Amino acid sequence: MIQEGKWIWRDGEIVPWHDANVHILSLAVQFGTSLFEGVRAYPTPDGPAIFRWNDHLRRLYDSCHIYRMDPKWSPQELTQAVCDLVERNGLESCYIRPMVLRGYGDAGMMPRESPIQTYLSCWPWGTYLGEGALEHGVDVCVSSWQRPQPNTFPSLAKAAGHYNNAQLIKMEATANGFAEAIALGPGGLVSEGSGQNVFIVRDGVLLTTGVDGTILSGITRASIITIARDLGIPVDAHPIPREMLYTADEVFFTGTAAEVTPVRSVDRITVGAGVTGPVTRALQTRFLDTVHGRVADEHGWLTHVRAVVNGRVPAAL
Ligand code: PMP
Repeated sequence: MIQEGKWIWRDGEIVPWHDANVHILSLAVQFGTSLFEGVRAYPTPDGPAIFRWNDHLRRLYDSCHIYRMDPKWSPQELTQAVCDLVERNGLESCYIRPMVLRGYGDAGMMPRESPIQTYLSCWPWGTYLGEGALEHGVDVCVSSWQRPQPNTFPSLAKAAGHYNNAQLIKMEATANGFAEAIALGPGGLVSEGSGQNVFIVRDGVLLTTGVDGTILSGITRASIITIARDLGIPVDAHPIPREMLYTADEVFFTGTAAEVTPVRSVDRITVGAGVTGPVTRALQTRFLDTVHGRVADEHGWLTHVRAVVNGRVPAAL
C-alpha cells in the first residue's frame, strides 16, 4: 500500500494528496497515455538530495518527444517545483513520481483536444524487493512473458501503458514464489526485469545487455557502468543468452526502486556461491555511499533540495 504524502504538484499549484484526480475518460486512464519517471531522494548530511534528477527529467522529455507530447513546463520550473514539493511534504527521503499525461477531451486515437497535464508526487518508500533484499539477494525466475518486440512499444519511453506487460511479468513471478522475474526479449535473449535492468559478472568482468530496443535505458544502469569504470572493473555490453544467467558468478538488478539488488538464484539454480558476490557488493556500496552523500559527488549527480528551495543554487540544466 502506498504510504501517502500530503501534497501533490499539479500544473503549477500544490494540491492536497486526495484532490489530485483525473477524469475517468482521460486518455491516460482509457489508453495508458502517461509518461512518467521514478526518482529517489536520499537523506544526506546536507538534507534530502535527489539522485540524477536532471537525467530523469531528460528521459521524461525524451518519452514525451517519442509520444509527440509537448510538456509546457521547463526543466528549471520542474526542478524548482519538485524541490519545493519534497520540502513541503517534510520528507528527508522519498520516491518521486513525475507524470506527464493526456487528460480529458478525446475518445479516439487522435488526441487533438486532450490537455497535457503534469503532476509531481512524492512519498516515503523503502527497499523495493523486500526486507533483506539488498543484503542477501532475491530468488528470481525467467518469465514466461516476453518483453515487447522493438518497434511496437518503444522501450526507451517510460510510458504507463507499457507497464501492463511489466505487471504480467511481476504477478506471475510472485504467484510462483519468486521475488521478481527476468524477461527475455522476442529473440529469446535476456532483456530486463519488470522494473530493473540486469547485470551479470563472470571472471571479474561486468556484463549487461546493450540498449537493444527491448530495455529501458536505466539511469541506475548508467550509474553502475560509470561506478564500475571508476573502480577499475572491466565492463562489457552485449547480448546475454538465458543460460549465462545460470553460469554467471554474480547476477544483480539495478533500478531506482530496486537500487542494486543481488540475485541469488535464477529458476532455483544458485548463482555462484549463493551469496552476494564481491563485485556486486563493491558496486552496491559505492552506489549507496554516493546517493547518501557519504562520498564526494564526483559526477554531479545530487540535486540538494534545500539549496534549490532557498534559491542558493540556480537550477542550471
Ligand atoms: N527497466 C524498467 C522497465 C523500469 O521500469 C526501470 C525503472 N525505471 C528500469 C529498467 C530501471 O531504470 P532506472 O534505473 O532509471 O530506474
